[in-house]
Amino acid sequence: MAEITLDNIAHSYISNPKKETDYALRLIDNSWKNGGAYAILGPSGCGKTTLLNIISGLLTPSKGRVLFDGKDVTDLPPEKRNIAQVFQFPVLYDTMSVYNNLAFPLKNRGFNKTDIEKRVLEVAKILDLTDSLQKKAARLTADAKQKISLGRGLVRSDVAAILFDEPLTVIDPHLKWQLRCKLKQVHEQLKLTLLYVTHDQVEALTFAEQVIVMYEGAIVQIGTPQELFENPSHKFVGYFIGSPGMNFLPCKIEGNRAMVDDVGIGIDDQTAALGAKAKGKIELGIRPLYLEIHPDQVKAGVPAMVKSVEDQGNYKIITVILGEKHILRARLPEGKPSPLKKAWLKFPENWIRLFSDDILLTN
Ligand code: ADP
Ligand code: MG
Repeated sequence: MAEITLDNIAHSYISNPKKETDYALRLIDNSWKNGGAYAILGPSGCGKTTLLNIISGLLTPSKGRVLFDGKDVTDLPPEKRNIAQVFQFPVLYDTMSVYNNLAFPLKNRGFNKTDIEKRVLEVAKILDLTDSLQKKAARLTADAKQKISLGRGLVRSDVAAILFDEPLTVIDPHLKWQLRCKLKQVHEQLKLTLLYVTHDQVEALTFAEQVIVMYEGAIVQIGTPQELFENPSHKFVGYFIGSPGMNFLPCKIEGNRAMVDDVGIGIDDQTAALGAKAKGKIELGIRPLYLEIHPDQVKAGVPAMVKSVEDQGNYKIITVILGEKHILRARLPEGKPSPLKKAWLKFPENWIRLFSDDILLTN
């Protein structure tokens, strides 16, 4: 296993890039620890696959270096990098048996028969493939084929890291959940460095210890699921994580109040000080989970009009309009009274965040 360092990496698919938008990856300068389980999360087109392919060696970056344990591997081809990669769609030898598909990466590297058998059986057991080992891969469903692809990624214990590129895309939802748990278990048993690419926040947040959030070719935040939820460093992370995402209100800071049009929302001293210093466009952010909503007037409550109520079973998502045009969502726990037309909002001071030109204000 290795520590992976991306030293000032940038990549453009255009031969003569000039402006920032010509780059699929703008600037990435990061180190990822040995043995960690990381998820790379971001919307389609933000550069996730490009990043993985640079790590595995399928792509050479336009700028910068890739280091494994401090050793420069930028010019090494994939087969010299000791990396296993699992792609979005199964890559298998259809005419071979499941056993031989799993054994292939090991045979290729000259492992002896006993070691191969031991390892193949171990991986087959983890993935519930033991009963299918003698079947031809061609006969299997798309799900089962992708499980074999996962198995081929996991079968080598000598790899520096295993890279997964949205590997559960073709898997049905129930099995998805099982496989995600399996991967987590495999990581705990084998302590492999895992990089797992996905556009699905649920997948990222359940799988990883650290989530790397990408947006428009850059890493905008690396953190635990809790850090991303409570302190999104960029508005994009606020939107993208959580469902629904964080609420944002354009505001002006006046003493201990954030003024949204002519509505004042109380903020604590520390937040007020941050806001007073900040330049640019200021917005107040609050998660729907923390925004309190009441059907009757409450002390220090801010009035709003109810636009819609969505029942989600364990809770309701209430959409309200504050002032003339500001739309906010609040999550109301089951059993609490739901407002009909008019509602009163409370913004707990400890859950209010301020953003300046999309960036979280911090000390
Ligand atoms: P993701 O995996 O996050 O969906 P990609 O890394 O595949 O994103 O793509 C990042 C950007 O680079 C996108 O704008 C995409 O259109 C572009 N891109 C990806 N592969 C190529 C390629 N082979 N040639 C040209 N542009 C590409
Ligand atoms: Mg991709």
